[in-house]
Amino acid sequence: HNSFYNPDCLFCRIAAGEIPADIVYRDEHVLAFRDINPAAPEHLLIIPLKHIASLNELQSEDKEIAGHLLLAAGEVARRAGLYDSGYRMVFNTGADALQSVFHIHGHLIGGCRMGWPPF
Ligand code: 5GP
Ligand code: ZN
Repeated sequence: HNSFYNPDCLFCRIAAGEIPADIVYRDEHVLAFRDINPAAPEHLLIIPLKHIASLNELQSEDKEIAGHLLLAAGEVARRAGLYDSGYRMVFNTGADALQSVFHIHGHLIGGCRMGWPPF
């Protein structure tokens, strides 16, 4: 494990291959895999390999990782068949947003017509 790994974190353990996941994309900074409890016909999670608890803990030194995560979204969407039909990426942060896993993840959701606003 590298210094970015938190042994108490589910998504760090998925990134380390200790817990299986349906992985659709991986590069030197990020990993994307299917959500175990999908909220839409296609529901993927894009995470940084580095353990960062939420957007609130993101530091300016993480700029490259954060940018990389957004740059990967189009390719992840393409692999999930969502590139042309459209998709949404959401970062639930904190209690009101119902964040339950404290390792930054973008929910990439699509495969159906969505509503807005989301409540
Ligand atoms: P949050 O609630 O923090 O915004 O999102 C956490 C997401 O992780 C949820 O959509 C939940 O279904 C998903 N999740 C929780 N545990 C696992 C797991 O073990 N494997 C996968 N693939 N997804 C998980
Ligand atoms: Zn983690």
